[in-house]
Amino acid sequence: MTRLSFFPVDNGDMTLVTTSNEKTVLIDCNIRDVTGEDPPPDVVKQLKERLKKDDKGRYYVDVFMLSHPDQDHCRGFQANFYCGPAADYPEKSEKIFIKELWSSPLIFRRKLRHETLCPDAITFNTEARRRVKKYRNAGGAVSDGDRILVLGEDEDNKQRGIEAIVVKCDTRFSKIAGIAQSNFEGYLLAPVPKGSEDEEEMRSKNNSSIIVQFKIGEGVNADACRFLTGGDADVSIWDRLWEKHKNATDVLKYDILLAPHHCSWHTLSHDSISDLGDKAKVSEPAKSALSQIRDVGRIVASCKEILDDDDDPPSHRAKEEYEKIADKRFHETSDFCGEPFEFDIKSHGPVIRSKASASSFARKDAAAGLIGSGAIGHG
Ligand SMILES: [Zn+2]
Repeated sequence: MTRLSFFPVDNGDMTLVTTSNEKTVLIDCNIRDVTGEDPPPDVVKQLKERLKKDDKGRYYVDVFMLSHPDQDHCRGFQANFYCGPAADYPEKSEKIFIKELWSSPLIFRRKLRHETLCPDAITFNTEARRRVKKYRNAGGAVSDGDRILVLGEDEDNKQRGIEAIVVKCDTRFSKIAGIAQSNFEGYLLAPVPKGSEDEEEMRSKNNSSIIVQFKIGEGVNADACRFLTGGDADVSIWDRLWEKHKNATDVLKYDILLAPHHCSWHTLSHDSISDLGDKAKVSEPAKSALSQIRDVGRIVASCKEILDDDDDPPSHRAKEEYEKIADKRFHETSDFCGEPFEFDIKSHGPVIRSKASASSFARKDAAAGLIGSGAIGHG
């Protein structure tokens, strides 16, 4: 079943793409502790229910892609995914085996200009380096568990000898774990190659992330669903993407958009709401970049419940902007009773599979004035 699954991870991302030939691409993870009182949904259990086991009895993903090394995008990586040489996978381990990693050293470097890495990000980076080294040492002859794709060009000398596993910005790629796909393709929109010192400083401060437009095919339609995903990339990055692609917007078109940065206001605006209130303005280029919706496309926010308050992310005003873009077809991952929010990809396009919780309908009806606040009052 060709499917797109958004796991209920509060303010964080964890998205699984299952292609028409059952390849699995997991983008980010935010796996919280489920041992305490009132635990969050067990997303590892939910994930494993959607994965297959290989001939050694291991759960596996074909690809794990990390959009950027923030904690809410890699929490639980070390505890739940196997790292190290494929041949050394311990017997009886419950860890998920990763056939191929998709990583961007450039984004790690941008993050490190101002911040340190959390332990999960260090583990991911160490594993990515191990795989690149293995590739070099083996002259490219690597197999599942040691494979890596590097998304984005780095400085030349750093990637000499590994050109075959580097995906350049503004190019398409369609192999999963070394196998060419007919119903799956990515177009790499970011990271852009290393720029001037000013440009690097701007990008490091604006949550530089891997941004990809995926084409997920079904049956004879290789373009059944376009999925645009961009981690936590902020407004300046979307502004620049619009400047670059405004005359050829096809690479920004989507049927499903994962609202960047958990529906943050700072994806859409340079202004601070706390300083400017209602005068805070949307940045038109960034909004245009995120408005290239096709037909009855939808926008998904991976975040906690969006209330009409001052929180950010998720921001209520950002939600209002996305509702305008998608003509109200806006969904929050918190609305599905702790279950993943899922689309089945049919040959004519994506179809929602999940049912929203009764409470979310009640809340929306209340917001729409369909339920008066005094309806069940005591007065
Ligand atoms: Zn985030």
